[in-house]
Amino acid sequence: MLDTIKSILKESNRIVFITGLGTITESGGRDLWDSSLFYALEKEYHMSPEELLSAGEYSSRKERFYKFYKKEVISYLPKPSETFSLIKKLEDEGRLEAVLSFNIFGLEKIAGIKRTVELDGSVYDNYCPKCYKKFDINYLLESPGIPVCDTCKKALRPNIRLLGERVDNDLYTMGCVACTNADTVVVLGCDLGGGKIQYVTGHYKGCNLILLANEEHYSDKYADYVLYGNISDNLKNVLE
Ligand SMILES: [Zn+2]
Repeated sequence: MLDTIKSILKESNRIVFITGLGTITESGGRDLWDSSLFYALEKEYHMSPEELLSAGEYSSRKERFYKFYKKEVISYLPKPSETFSLIKKLEDEGRLEAVLSFNIFGLEKIAGIKRTVELDGSVYDNYCPKCYKKFDINYLLESPGIPVCDTCKKALRPNIRLLGERVDNDLYTMGCVACTNADTVVVLGCDLGGGKIQYVTGHYKGCNLILLANEEHYSDKYADYVLYGNISDNLKNVLE
């Protein structure tokens, strides 16, 4: 399997990467859905992380939303693992079609990858919904309680897709176009059964859908090739 993937990648010149949760955890980030953390958070906030990061929570209970968001989400910012420097190298060689990111921690941009589509937004982009002034993440972290615009005092909005919100059509169209153009699609640490990922990968017409994942999942059957184990190590091996 490793040698087959290796030779596919060697001959690929329009590679699309799709990055998910597995790339966040290997970059030192937290998995809010990991069972022990999930239950600890549910116990403390009396709601699941999903509900706490929902559009309903943001619009009607901003104080609790921001308490959770600041303390449990943006206080644990991952730093890009070696995976991202390997992708950057492919971009420098002109062989990267795009990275479609399902991680909201801006790991691709921090690693300097230009052809990045942040499908669900980024915690580094925050704005005032009234005047559209932009605010960095430190402004949020340093604001006591609900962070507000320093001009119009309106509560700020992190530019990430919250549960219950529609996807950004423009970004998803870019994702679909990238998959249409791709000769190879490499999925890193993502559940291939999810509706959003199926929507974009559904536009890929080739037969080199490669999955690198930490562990097995029933949805791995959607991939043409699968490698299990540490994502960075495996990516390094197949790109050698
Ligand atoms: Zn404003």
